[in-house]
Amino acid sequence: MALIACQQCRKRISSLAEQCPHCGFSSRLSQSGSAADLAALRLKQLKQWRYRIRMGSYTAMALMLAAVIAWWLDSGMLGLPGPFVKLALASGLLVYMSLRAYLFWLSIQIKSASKALREAEN
Ligand SMILES: [Zn+2]
Repeated sequence: MALIACQQCRKRISSLAEQCPHCGFSSRLSQSGSAADLAALRLKQLKQWRYRIRMGSYTAMALMLAAVIAWWLDSGMLGLPGPFVKLALASGLLVYMSLRAYLFWLSIQIKSASKALREAEN
């Protein structure tokens, strides 16, 4: 048994594995699978990504909330925020905005992937 790189996610998997345990990619599918199988796989992966990115954006939101709470506890939000609060707010906002932009892009991809799946199934 040897370790090979998954064709899809490049992680190391057993050469005997029919399916990648990391991303679910099946080399057998890609060789003999129908267009519908491939479209379904792509849609599934996009939805997994959407879930991960959504969780990430919630984490960024929690960071901003924690920063605001720290600011409020510190000075009742009357004084200027300290450097840590500023940093947490700025990075939380930056991460949140970029993840939202990525989510928007993903939703377009998911829309076109489900359209491709419907077309492949017909
Ligand atoms: Zn993989």
